[in-house]
Amino acid sequence: MRHKSRKRIYVAYTGGTIGMKQTQKGYAPEKGFLEEQLRALSLFARPELPEVTIHEYEPLLDSANMTPHEWVKIARDIEAHYDDYDGFIILHGTDTMAYTASALSFMLENLSKSVILTGAQLPLMELRSDGRENLIGALFLAANFQIPEVGLYFHGKLLRGNRAVKVSASGFSAFESPNYPPLATAGVSIRLNWKNILPKPKNKFKVKSLEQVRIGVMTLFPGISPEVVKNFLRAPIEGLVLKTFGVGNAPDNPDLIEVFREATQRGVYIVNVSQCLEGRVDMQSYVGGYRLKEAGVLSGYDMTTEATLAKLFYLLGNSSLTSQRIRRQIEQNLRGELTR
Ligand code: ASP
Repeated sequence: MRHKSRKRIYVAYTGGTIGMKQTQKGYAPEKGFLEEQLRALSLFARPELPEVTIHEYEPLLDSANMTPHEWVKIARDIEAHYDDYDGFIILHGTDTMAYTASALSFMLENLSKSVILTGAQLPLMELRSDGRENLIGALFLAANFQIPEVGLYFHGKLLRGNRAVKVSASGFSAFESPNYPPLATAGVSIRLNWKNILPKPKNKFKVKSLEQVRIGVMTLFPGISPEVVKNFLRAPIEGLVLKTFGVGNAPDNPDLIEVFREATQRGVYIVNVSQCLEGRVDMQSYVGGYRLKEAGVLSGYDMTTEATLAKLFYLLGNSSLTSQRIRRQIEQNLRGELTR
């Protein structure tokens, strides 16, 4: 019989290194392998850990293959089990984990339970795997605290999902949230930073699906050609995350600015975010930024590229929003992703 006070956590295993197996062509996911590894660790018999249900996705994906279709699949999976569990863990590849975390933060409306993404840089099958600690930490947090957010737990830190970025391809401390403090840190003791955590919503939980929208990301660089930008911004593009210099600066080349103006007038939503990891866009600081603003480019303030992209998917696919409302919401804080 189930112990009354033991919490129930739903673990969705989508793929990623954590459960991968060594093959002749490198690490690859394999059906059933993660559960086998976990059983060998006998983790779930520990009374300190919650009761866990693992749902392995089919097919298991390297997260490089994730698309908005998979984001919707995860969101619907959480929705289907929302009332039966105390919290949710999404085991996911690290490469696009910050994108999925950002997308879920928008799609899971009025979330009042912990949803935590985690994974590993080395598979559980490896002796030095970081997967064990990441999974235990995420389970512990989800079971013991009701954090009404989509978080990303990695190497002792719980980050707000839509503030997280992958900063290391090979280090165990692979994620940071440069513009927002961690929601929790797990050292010898676990510390929750409640003042940085969103309040519990009053309304009922619901999932907002995503529609097919055509979005691009473009990085400015010295010498970028207006012609190339013009081609990139051709129909059917609907939204662009524009990665600018420093505080939102761009070359004030009139031909380039004209390309942006023409696109925004056609209804393309262009959002200015910085190439720098830390800091914010301020389009009043330099002439180049000011010209972008005059051309109709919106400010992404201190949003990550991942969160901006996910926000465009979320807003542009919502047919009930007028374009004026979309423009306003892009610059507003919806889920703690942006500080003005
Ligand atoms: N390529 C892997 C993935 O993102 C990397 C990882 O899981 O760490 O699925």
